[in-house]
Amino acid sequence: MSPDPTLRLAQIMVVLRLRYRFLNLHYEAAWTESWSHRRCFHRHQTLIEAAKCAMPHGAGWYVFAVEGDTARQLRETEDRIVDEFRFGQTEEQSWVTRL
Ligand SMILES: [Zn+2]
Repeated sequence: MSPDPTLRLAQIMVVLRLRYRFLNLHYEAAWTESWSHRRCFHRHQTLIEAAKCAMPHGAGWYVFAVEGDTARQLRETEDRIVDEFRFGQTEEQSWVTRL
């Protein structure tokens, strides 16, 4: 007997979702408010969009990534983009300016 095609499709979808989690990526804004962690629950497609959403919530904001259903810290390259937006320029750039 051949396997149930609906079940087989569901199994394939699970594997694809796990394998290509990075394709299902979005960014969210987060901040602390009255000593508790808050997040915006938007599905921002870019880091800058998420940063713009976070900024009005005060100085303690940050951006994190969500791959599939899993939240993760920003990678170094992503973090640099957010820092550039937040501070105007990166550490390396400010060094170059000072030379
Ligand atoms: Zn947002």
